[in-house]
Amino acid sequence: MALKLYNTLTRKRELFKPINPPKVNMYTCGPTVYDYAHIGNFRAYVVADLLKRYLTYNNKFKVKHVMNITDVDDKTIKNSIKQKTTLKKFTEKYTKAFFEDIKKLNIKPANNYPKATQHIKEIVSMIKKLLKKGIAYKSEDNSIYFNVFKFKNYGKLANIEIKNLKSGARVKQDEYEKESLHDFALWKAWDNADGNIFWETELGKGRPGWHIECSAMSSKFLGKQFDIHTGGIDLIFPHHENEIAQIEAITCKKFVKYWVHNEHLLVDGRKMSKSLGNFYTLRDILKKGYDPIAVRYSLISTHYQQQLNFTFEDLDASKSTIQKLTNFVRNLDDIKSKRESNNSKHIEKHIKNTKEGFEEAMDDNLNISNALGEVFSFMHLMNAIIHTISKKEAQKIKETILNFDEVLGLGLKNLKKSTVPKEISDLVKQRETARKNQDWKAADQLRDKITKLGYSIKDTKEGSQIKKIS
Ligand code: AMP
Ligand code: ZN
Repeated sequence: MALKLYNTLTRKRELFKPINPPKVNMYTCGPTVYDYAHIGNFRAYVVADLLKRYLTYNNKFKVKHVMNITDVDDKTIKNSIKQKTTLKKFTEKYTKAFFEDIKKLNIKPANNYPKATQHIKEIVSMIKKLLKKGIAYKSEDNSIYFNVFKFKNYGKLANIEIKNLKSGARVKQDEYEKESLHDFALWKAWDNADGNIFWETELGKGRPGWHIECSAMSSKFLGKQFDIHTGGIDLIFPHHENEIAQIEAITCKKFVKYWVHNEHLLVDGRKMSKSLGNFYTLRDILKKGYDPIAVRYSLISTHYQQQLNFTFEDLDASKSTIQKLTNFVRNLDDIKSKRESNNSKHIEKHIKNTKEGFEEAMDDNLNISNALGEVFSFMHLMNAIIHTISKKEAQKIKETILNFDEVLGLGLKNLKKSTVPKEISDLVKQRETARKNQDWKAADQLRDKITKLGYSIKDTKEGSQIKKIS
């Protein structure tokens, strides 16, 4: 099998064939740094990370990943002025917070994080090319707009027919109603609301529009044609439609081969968003005592093209799933026996089948539910024989899990040592042996002893879970 991805551009699942294998060039629209990102935003970044991790899994592809930082737009300007600080200081605060958050979510860093304010030269040069071609025009107020009627493929990504629409309507602000068609601003002439934020350029005094920022930065770092572009579905129109128009109007070549869009994270059935006020930042959730990896798990465990309703119950379920996986890996590490079990063949067979199942699922447009299903049934099967296996076999099983975790990113490789003291874990093991021998009396006595020492014990299918009694 080979990877198939759903391509928004063609509305089909397509076999993934990069332009220049094994290299894959991938761009993700990054955050607008005017506030802390919410976990809906992080769904977009975690999905891009899952895709990137799967592309590089077992060294299949070499990915160059670029994610921009939008550090100048209507919102960053408005809020920095409101807070009486400079745009630079204001956006640096939230850029730093963003990097801290993605690290906690175990998102692998991109190769480059270009900032819009550092690419004014490239932006101006692109706009000049569009002016020269007669696709862009200057309006009465000296702003420069892209004439959508001059680009014949306008609407092909969002599947919007433009021929019946009126031309000449313009929109200057970065955010505007979806599904409505306008000439959009490439360069915004300075006005009072911009305060002291402007660039004096050949285009006049002003600043770039949001859409051209991404086109300039993606093409600078990845070329005029590249493999994958990701983002949430709300970016399909107008942002990504405009990114295509700006580049393809200049190059007359296909800009991006595969457009991958994630569905939204919802709260009570509505998109999580700043404007609705129904959002949680990662910080809000961590303050409640949750582990960021549980948040990551919640965000990846539903297929990226399905809407996902955020609830704390779901987060609790993710937490306990992570705990099970963690216990499993720790229990495997505790196995010291040198004696090979008579399960060796059985283990090899399951490792092989599970790997095949996992890859087949991920190849199928990142079918994460089936991929996780493979991991969990493997864990259950191995847990059933865990008391009989040798250290060598345990390590093979662990390697398999860690290999899957290269894709899932649940941090299983660098687990902190268990905080349960050796005295307690020895008693737990003795109790497990007693239970296996159906010596219930001894098992109960051992449980009492463990409780007296301040630990509670819960029996699950995956083995005993120990917790310090608080
Ligand atoms: P923004 O900073 O608003 O441009 O958003 C950054 C990324 O988050 C974009 O890819 C958006 O499509 C994505 N995004 C925003 N809200 C949500 C949501 N509720 N669920 C999933 N992705 C989202
Ligand atoms: Zn973008």
